[in-house]
Amino acid sequence: MSGPHRLTGIPASHGYAKGPVFDLDTGSQAHVSTGHPEEEARALTLAIESASEQLAALAAKTVGEAADMLEFQLAMLADESLSAPAFALIDQGASADGAWSYALDEQIDSYEASEDEYFRARSADLKDIRQQVLEALAPAGSLAVPSGAILVGDDIAPTRFLAVDWSQGGGIALAKGSSASHVAMLARARGVPMVVGLGPVPSNFDLPVFLDAEHGHVLLGPGGEAEELFHRAAEAFAVRRRAAEENSANPAATADGTPVRVLINVADPSDVERIDIATCDGVGLMRTEFLFGKAGGLPDEETQYRAYRKVLEWAAGKPVTIRTVDAGGDKPVPGYTVEEGNPFLGLRGIRLSLARPEIFRVQIRALLRSAVHGNLKIMFPMVAVPEEFAIAAALFAEEAETLANAGGEYAIPPLGIMVEVPSTAIAPELFADVAFFSIGSNDLTQYVMAAARDNTAVAALNSVHNPAVLRLIASVAAFGQANGIPVSLCGDAGGDPAAIPALLEAGLRDLSVVPAQLALAKAAIAGVTL
Ligand code: PEP
Ligand code: MG
Repeated sequence: MSGPHRLTGIPASHGYAKGPVFDLDTGSQAHVSTGHPEEEARALTLAIESASEQLAALAAKTVGEAADMLEFQLAMLADESLSAPAFALIDQGASADGAWSYALDEQIDSYEASEDEYFRARSADLKDIRQQVLEALAPAGSLAVPSGAILVGDDIAPTRFLAVDWSQGGGIALAKGSSASHVAMLARARGVPMVVGLGPVPSNFDLPVFLDAEHGHVLLGPGGEAEELFHRAAEAFAVRRRAAEENSANPAATADGTPVRVLINVADPSDVERIDIATCDGVGLMRTEFLFGKAGGLPDEETQYRAYRKVLEWAAGKPVTIRTVDAGGDKPVPGYTVEEGNPFLGLRGIRLSLARPEIFRVQIRALLRSAVHGNLKIMFPMVAVPEEFAIAAALFAEEAETLANAGGEYAIPPLGIMVEVPSTAIAPELFADVAFFSIGSNDLTQYVMAAARDNTAVAALNSVHNPAVLRLIASVAAFGQANGIPVSLCGDAGGDPAAIPALLEAGLRDLSVVPAQLALAKAAIAGVTL
């Protein structure tokens, strides 16, 4: 077959880029050993110090979850028990980079083999730390990413992403990776094109490569017509994005004038600081897991109250839907979630909250108290049977009474549920007494298709476009419409321009999207004729 060599993966952050390849794995070969243990030990000490300084500098200009991750890595790097085995190997004659890689790989292996999910999740941080010190050991400048480069490798650590200057363009093409990863979220937030799950990408290709992260392709040396098509698609994308941004402050409506409310998803209260409330219709999903995953243990009532109040006050009367903690599955929380063989089908979301009522009651009191500061709605995640809603609602009533007896200020907000478990989507009539439904298309899709949301190997199956998923969404929307129960959607599909026409066709008129997708989602809505 003639034509350019084309690799196909999964778009993780839409956009186009053309540039030289930069191999993300170069760092491991760049240090030249002196052959003297004292000098190698000194080189490693300096590299650890320099990596720590870089992390601290990055942390200082980062906010939210990314800042927490950087602080955590700094603390790990400062722990001498992490580096002691490497220094012991250097004493026996190993080079600084060899000793560091070997010692860290051993730790990474043991973290990955751990029974404890918390340690397994932390192995990604250890890999990140290993790479940062190797880079610090490399001769100055040898690892600088050329401007506009396409970064190629198995995966990329968040710190590496944060350290690159993306102002001159560039993109990311990964052999593995996941569109649900932390880096993918950062790439979407900053508009950096990224494709994952490409399989091996040649890192020694010495011509510019063409990254089409709208459709998930990497073209190696296209030339001729293919190159022209690439440039046309890239230009059309840029025009669409510019037009979308210019119109992003206007309320959303379809081409034939049907209004659609577009709200935003918030993960950390600091997310709202850079967003003008005038550009959206409120918060359709505030995830509260971020408060529970911190190093200092589970959050107390006051910490939660302040976080909820901050977002409610920012929203200035527009609706804010806060979800009670959805720990478990892809969101383990040390000291709270439990070890289980199949965490996606286990004690997660509302199941865990009801199993640990003493922790749930703290969150409920914080929510009831914050409700006086704005237009709050509460929803429960992973509801599968009506009893779960009934018990959770009864706990709200009990805690409201406790607050009333203590003379505290509080309000009882409307209580709704996420529709993300197939049983709930198939039989919504069992939940006719909830105040609203919010469809969680990420989980609904993975449970309907039996295809995990974070597994590249089954990513093609994990599609909201599958008629079975769309039919369920349409039937929940129709049930809500017929019974006066508002139905919205807060999964990632809501912000995906390719999915928006089908979601509106299915009857939805309320979408909650990640802030980075707000403008493009409104533009996609404007292109739909119902
Ligand atoms: C969903 O499942 O679609 C959802 C919005 O919740 P989360 O992604 O937090 O599981
Ligand atoms: Mg979910």
